[in-house]
Amino acid sequence: MLPNLTPDVDLADELFTGLRAGSTDGEGVTREAYGPGERMAHALVRAAAERFGLECANDIAGNLYMTLPGADRSAKRIVIGSHLDSVRQGGNYDGAAGVLAGLAAVAGMKRAGFVPGRDITVMAIRAEEAGAWFPVSYPGSRMALGLFKADGLEIPRNDTGRSLADHMREEGFDPDAVARGEHALSAHNVAGYLELHIEQGPVLESEQLPIGIVTGIPGSRRLRQGRVVGEYNHSGATPRKYRRDAAAALAELVHRMDEEWCRLDTMGHVLVCTFCTMATTAEAGFTKIAGEATFQLDVRSVSPHACDLMFEAMHRFMEEIEARRGVRFDLGPETGSRAAIMDPEIRAGLKRAAEALGVGHLDMASGAGHDAAAFAEAKIPSSMLFVRNQNGSHNPHEAMRMEDFAQACAVVQRWAAEAAQ
Ligand SMILES: [Zn+2]
Repeated sequence: MLPNLTPDVDLADELFTGLRAGSTDGEGVTREAYGPGERMAHALVRAAAERFGLECANDIAGNLYMTLPGADRSAKRIVIGSHLDSVRQGGNYDGAAGVLAGLAAVAGMKRAGFVPGRDITVMAIRAEEAGAWFPVSYPGSRMALGLFKADGLEIPRNDTGRSLADHMREEGFDPDAVARGEHALSAHNVAGYLELHIEQGPVLESEQLPIGIVTGIPGSRRLRQGRVVGEYNHSGATPRKYRRDAAAALAELVHRMDEEWCRLDTMGHVLVCTFCTMATTAEAGFTKIAGEATFQLDVRSVSPHACDLMFEAMHRFMEEIEARRGVRFDLGPETGSRAAIMDPEIRAGLKRAAEALGVGHLDMASGAGHDAAAFAEAKIPSSMLFVRNQNGSHNPHEAMRMEDFAQACAVVQRWAAEAAQ
């Protein structure tokens, strides 16, 4: 029999207000990874956790652990977490909602005098939005789990030009220990990881359901430095057969990839394919044929096979376009991440909790990447709970209704109480 627990949603509400006030940039909020915004958020959340008696500690990467001790302190712990950083001019809920939901859940347990069987730790993860500042994926959680490669520490931030290690040191953390492979979390001391997050898409809103139980997180294949090399020439004086037009070649590639995506879609493959940038270079101008074009490509799917199908098609198209248009494609380095399947047992537990509480829910795949993918990669049973939100995310208009958040917190709390038995 589970005790009657309610999450402390007022505490979360107060912290949302404090976070917004401390990181407003006029439009939205800005909490840069390993910078002042994130520092403020960690200090605010830690002060609240200390106030109601959680054990607080940082790891070498600056991740914050706020623990409600369980009866058996040596048992593997339950971790509920998300990130506190944001993109520039982002919204207040992306990331923070997951940390504050964890705090609301354990604060409610503490208030009710509930002692879990094992520790429940709320984790505020560093730098999940690092991609907006440093071109690396999930450095905070990956450092906590010992999955971060040391050479990533030397990557420069895109505006300051200083390395990730430098910015970490400035915030008082220890990149050298990260480079030595020291880490706080593993499958040996964590029994399960749950991350609550706003959905960032329109599905729950249009289905009129407050929460989604996440089935998987997509992996990606990405090109950040794609180029098409042709030849600059006079746009009036160069007949068609002498042209090597990089802009037309890129446009053709984009169009054919879009058609291929459509074809795979009708065959039942679930993926997304986005040419995030397409541009001619500074030498381009009026009355010139573009001799060079650049592009960035982001292909994502929960199925690695679907990503591979798009890339195989791309190589076929490029060969044909090169032969016919006299251009050359140069894809540059490829980056990406592996897809992560969410743990069936945690998903079943979330479903039980939602049903016991009468909270409407839906099974759905995540569209975006999240720290939960790093936990799954470390072989820790992991899952995510999405909360309905409005106006997308990564923008100042991102919204969420507190009544939806309260229902989601209740599900998190009930799941955690059961999982920590
Ligand atoms: Zn996020």
